[in-house]
Amino acid sequence: MSSKRNHQSKTTDTNSTTAESVLKVMYAQGKVQFGDAMKGFWLYGGDLCPACLRNSAGEVNFQGEKALSINGFMYRERGILIGYFLCEICTLFIHEQARKHPYQETPLHLKIETNLKEAYQRYLSSLN
Ligand SMILES: [Zn+2]
Repeated sequence: MSSKRNHQSKTTDTNSTTAESVLKVMYAQGKVQFGDAMKGFWLYGGDLCPACLRNSAGEVNFQGEKALSINGFMYRERGILIGYFLCEICTLFIHEQARKHPYQETPLHLKIETNLKEAYQRYLSSLN
């Protein structure tokens, strides 16, 4: 039984604006927690999901609703909060894991962190 629907996505611009305002809130909360260790934030803008590097990241169907779920990773060595989206498969996987084993990181998190750090380094060198 397949009820695959083709949604016309909202514009990516709207999504990244929304994402940035969410990220700003997360950053403000992080400032409270980490103080000056928190130096800035950056939105991972890659097209591919940083967990599987296969599917496109962005909107997911979550419990029947179209959702844009932004995640945050604190890159401690640099004091940068990195915001990112996952693909639907990885989002559902992580939600499922979190339900079964609350407060535990999955091996997927390690991959995400590695890929995000690399993406951030690439971003920094692109500035030069
Ligand atoms: Zn993925």
